[in-house]
Amino acid sequence: MVDKFKCEKCSTESDRIDFISNNNVCPVCNKHYYLDAWQKLKIIIDEGSFSELGTDINSYDFLGFTDTKAYGHRIKEAREKTYISEAVIAGSAKINGTCVAIGIMDFGFMGGSMGSVVGERIRILSEYAIKERLPLIIFCSSGGARMQEGIISLMQMAKTVSCIRRLKESGMPYISVINNPTTGGVSASFASTADIIIAEPESLFCFAGPRVVKQTIKKELPSDFGLAERNLRNGQIDMIVNRNEIKDRLSRLIKIFLKA
Ligand SMILES: [Zn+2]
Repeated sequence: MVDKFKCEKCSTESDRIDFISNNNVCPVCNKHYYLDAWQKLKIIIDEGSFSELGTDINSYDFLGFTDTKAYGHRIKEAREKTYISEAVIAGSAKINGTCVAIGIMDFGFMGGSMGSVVGERIRILSEYAIKERLPLIIFCSSGGARMQEGIISLMQMAKTVSCIRRLKESGMPYISVINNPTTGGVSASFASTADIIIAEPESLFCFAGPRVVKQTIKKELPSDFGLAERNLRNGQIDMIVNRNEIKDRLSRLIKIFLKA
């Protein structure tokens, strides 16, 4: 029996193998579904070109924080589930032959939350881009700051933004790619400070999600609140690009920047 995938948007059943080979995009209605960090990397870069940075920096439960589970336990669970050591992987790679510094966030790792390690890996990546004169690309996907690290997680907003500023002062370009969802402290820091902001179709990109905003202001919100299409109309992002076309679009943009 062929394994089927039923799209939650258009209700069409497709062969799961077609869905997966289409990079988790519904072949009928183009709805983009979750990919983990390694899957995203595979689509974007030239095969075998990735060299990872910052692998020796790992999370530490400096507050001894426990909610329903100990923070240390949550990190261990997330590592086992995602096969990555933190919510972002960073390194150098090639895109259609051009070298870049690239960071990829994974929402599957504690909601892509930004703690001290995410902030530090973004710093290492941006410093590397400055030193090696490489364009910086970050695929963003996050629910916001990592509450288990308290105020240290909030400090990562200022830290990452200042790193991006240094990159810009060095004259190197920075492109962010918004994956669904990108909210909270990441949307309010390095996701929004790029020279070009690309979003996948219907990706959510806002500070507070629609449910929280609705509860706060006690008003109905537009059905497309925070979605890429509305953000494009309002000037929050620069372009919407289908996942299967992002590699070539990035490649073209980088070449334009590097010639300038
Ligand atoms: Zn569909």
